[in-house]
This record gives sequence, structure tokens and C-alpha cells, in this order.
Amino acid sequence: MTSDLQQIAALLLKNRDNRVDWGEISHLEGAECSKRIANRFLICCLLDWQWDADLAWERGKHLADKLEKGGDTDDLWAVISSFSKEEWDSKYEEFGRPHRFHRGYRRLWPIANELCAIYDGDARKIWTGRSPFEALIHLWALGAGDQISRMIVGALRDCEQITGDSGDVKADLHLRRVLGRAVYGEEIRATEATKVIQLTRNLSADPWKLDLPLWYVGKSYCRPTSPNCPNCYLRLHCVYYQQHHDAGTTSDIPLEKT
Ligand code: SF4
Repeated sequence: MTSDLQQIAALLLKNRDNRVDWGEISHLEGAECSKRIANRFLICCLLDWQWDADLAWERGKHLADKLEKGGDTDDLWAVISSFSKEEWDSKYEEFGRPHRFHRGYRRLWPIANELCAIYDGDARKIWTGRSPFEALIHLWALGAGDQISRMIVGALRDCEQITGDSGDVKADLHLRRVLGRAVYGEEIRATEATKVIQLTRNLSADPWKLDLPLWYVGKSYCRPTSPNCPNCYLRLHCVYYQQHHDAGTTSDIPLEKT
């Protein structure tokens, strides 16, 4: 690994805030999770793709509230599977557009049916007693999608619901943009998500630990059209920054090298 890559990895790890909020499951500090909390966590995670994460979780909680009928049931996956496919599709507006795309909402129905058939509608049974890799395989098989499955496993490790040595990042658009610019000078394309996985594996023995700081840099500084490089702590080792800025411009805020 080159010196700049080592420095990027070190800076990201140094800026990792472990207090990630994954909803109620985050507050258990490793204590046993209820079926209701696990099911709510899973539905929010499944909605968290290809749009703003904060909005995804807000809509996910709203959808879970509706499905639980004011606390009458902790079986929200059974409620979803009790609808016919057509009924479920037709409730997109009624449930407050839970995903930016109708297909992002629609896919919950086949997942609910699988979940009820294999795991009795209890999300905990996907991961309890399993290693991170075993849980990942079960999530893939459920149809959660590759990147969301990796995020779920990482979140469960953050929340101490599963234990294991390492996990991969979710190669979303923020990570592709930040890592691509920092290492290659340009964004990594969506079709090259495996490049992100491989790169983060080279940067850390536990790539998941890079997920949050990379996401945060992407959301806060490394914006799509006008990255705020002068305030970004990666800039001294960032290829994009070196290509687009003269060293020592007056707008730059000095940063300490690690
Ligand atoms: S220095 Fe600029 S281009 Fe590089 S990661 Fe930070 S914000 Fe993005």
C-alpha cells in the first residue's frame, strides 16, 4: 500500500464515530433484541438504497408504525405477506411513498413472503447465532441485495448483535465518489462497486470500519458538483485535490498530517 493510501486509511479510522444510529437496535448495547425491534430495523435497512439515508429511515419508521397498527403486532412481515401482490402494490401512496422508487417499495412483498416462509416472520432468525459471513449469505438469499446485505451485517456488528472479525462496506454513491476521487482522481462508476470492496479490503483488515467515515465525507464535503476540499481532512492525500487545487491557496485551512 502506498503512503497516501495508508494515510487515507489512518485518517478515516481516526475520524470514525462509533455512535452510529441504527434506530432502536442501536440502544440495546448488545442486549437481546426483540422481534419488533429486529423487524423494524430490517425494513428500514431494506429501504435504504439509492436515496437519502435519513429520509429512508424516516419513511421506514413511518411504514413500520402503519403496519404494526399502533403497536397491535410485532409481526410486520406477516402483515405485508397477508396482502396480495396487487394489494401491496396499490398501497404505495397510502403508506406515504416509503421509497423514492415504487420498485424499492414493491420488493418488500416477495422478501416478506420469504421471511415468513423461512424465518417465521422474525428477522432475528436471519442472523442470530451466525457469523457475519453466514448472515450475509442468508441476506443475499432473501433478496436483500449485495450492498444492503453488507450494510445490514456491518450495522449488526456495530450494535453487537453478531460478532466477527470483519465485514465489507456498502459501496453506495458516497463511497464510490469519495474513494474514487481520493485514490484515482475521479468517481468510481456504479458498475464497478467491486472496486470499492477490493480497495477498502486493501485499506483495512476490517473494511466496515471505513464505511461510516467515508459516507460522512461524501455527505458533508465531497459533494457531487462542488466538493468542499479546503475543509476535508483527506485533502493532503487526495488525488482529486492535488489535480484541481494549487498547494497553499489562501482559502485552504491548514490540516495536520498524520
Ligand atoms: S479532498 Fe475534496 S475531492 Fe478529495 S475526498 Fe475530500 S472533498 Fe472529496
